[in-house]
Amino acid sequence: MPSTHSLRRTKIIATLGPATESEAMLGQLITAGVDVVRLNMAHAKHDWTRLIIRRIRTAAQKAGRDVAIMMDIKGPEIRTGELTEPLDLKVGEIFDFTVRPETEPKRSAEIRSVDVNYPDLVNDIKVGDTVLVDSGQIRLVVLGKDQAHIRCRVLTPGSLTSRRHINLPGVHINLPSFTAKDRADTIVGVEEGVDFIALSFVREASDIEKLRLFLKERNSHARIVAKIEDQSAINNLDEIIRATDVLMVARGDLGIEVPLQELPVIQRRAVRTCLAIGRPVIIATHMLESMITQPMPNRAEITDVANAVYEQADCVMLSGETTIGKYPLECVRILDTIARRIEAEQAIDIAEPAVFISERMKVFRAAVVLANEIPRSLIVVFTRHGTNASGLAAHRPPHAPILAITDCVETMRHLRIVRAVEPFLLTPFSNPEATIERAIASLLKLGRVRDGDKLIIVSDIQTKDRRIDSIQLREVFSASP
Ligand code: PEP
Repeated sequence: MPSTHSLRRTKIIATLGPATESEAMLGQLITAGVDVVRLNMAHAKHDWTRLIIRRIRTAAQKAGRDVAIMMDIKGPEIRTGELTEPLDLKVGEIFDFTVRPETEPKRSAEIRSVDVNYPDLVNDIKVGDTVLVDSGQIRLVVLGKDQAHIRCRVLTPGSLTSRRHINLPGVHINLPSFTAKDRADTIVGVEEGVDFIALSFVREASDIEKLRLFLKERNSHARIVAKIEDQSAINNLDEIIRATDVLMVARGDLGIEVPLQELPVIQRRAVRTCLAIGRPVIIATHMLESMITQPMPNRAEITDVANAVYEQADCVMLSGETTIGKYPLECVRILDTIARRIEAEQAIDIAEPAVFISERMKVFRAAVVLANEIPRSLIVVFTRHGTNASGLAAHRPPHAPILAITDCVETMRHLRIVRAVEPFLLTPFSNPEATIERAIASLLKLGRVRDGDKLIIVSDIQTKDRRIDSIQLREVFSASP
């Protein structure tokens, strides 16, 4: 029989790729505890996307556990063009990025070059700027530019292959935040009913508002995940956190765009700011990177995952580990094991829940204080749009799980991303007492609560003319709920 501790509070996001796209593997990942499946649109074609979304839904149905789907759109990304064969760039070599191949003036035969997909880069970049290619592996400095070329010297050598991502630390890029490709991808996501759209390289709150409007115009209820990946996002972090539904600390690009020693400082600040206003936050990238090829994580990775759990982030995310890695299932199991161990440790010293301003949040705080004081208690919350469940989760109850009962399938999936929340779908009754009794009966049947458990029930009671927030304490009796 599961105990209150059978819930892992930290949620797991797995990115899908060749290593994990089969229905069988998807089923195994979902059974192993993946909460959200992420599709990285930088590498996905629309036919594949539609097929895979349906496959995820089928695999989830077969596994008996509905997961959320996150479509990650690539935003204003700059990439190098096609190369017929890799170019070995040597230290000190002069190298050109060609931004307008069609108007290209005569090029020096000795200088090698590659195309770039953003012609106005010449206007944004200046002499002395750094150009980083392929996750920062190749480093160049800008020596000069004309309308067609950016001339550089290679500082860190490497082998350049086709379509490599370019980072330009500190350079403000004038590409739109929501590109034509993003629009086309998002339309597919909306049509297929994805639950989250993750917007890459968010630079300011208005980037999020544009996407929100686009979704609203298409009657989509998908939630927005703002990915912070460069210095502009860090400069505007507080307004971005207020504007978004969920924040992702996208450490892959962020770790290239900002000085490396700033990365942990930014992560901690981002998580704390999210916690302070009850915004879900994801820690992404390189969590178990060595497991792309090895069956066990390295020691620093174990500590990094533990740190994200200690910081009380809502989710940890896998990328390469589950797209191309040799051990995707093991990665999920290892995240699960580390998260549970750290969460058990956190439950020993119960910290006072945070204090929020609104009266509603104070009611939720009271429920969490009650849960903290009653052993073997579980919080049961009735939630239509997920606000009550998220409000409770914002108080970070250290041991009681939050069993969120909703009659809306979208809400159930949205809550997959929220720490400590376990969502359940239930058809509502008109009578609140019947709804509560039915919910307890379902939770008993699922083995999620058992005789003697103390339930702290948070719900709205509708009187003749108003809604009243209520907290009830009930003990579970299987004979008469
Ligand atoms: C990242 O940069 O950490 C990230 C999650 O984004 P992407 O995988 O799209 O590069």
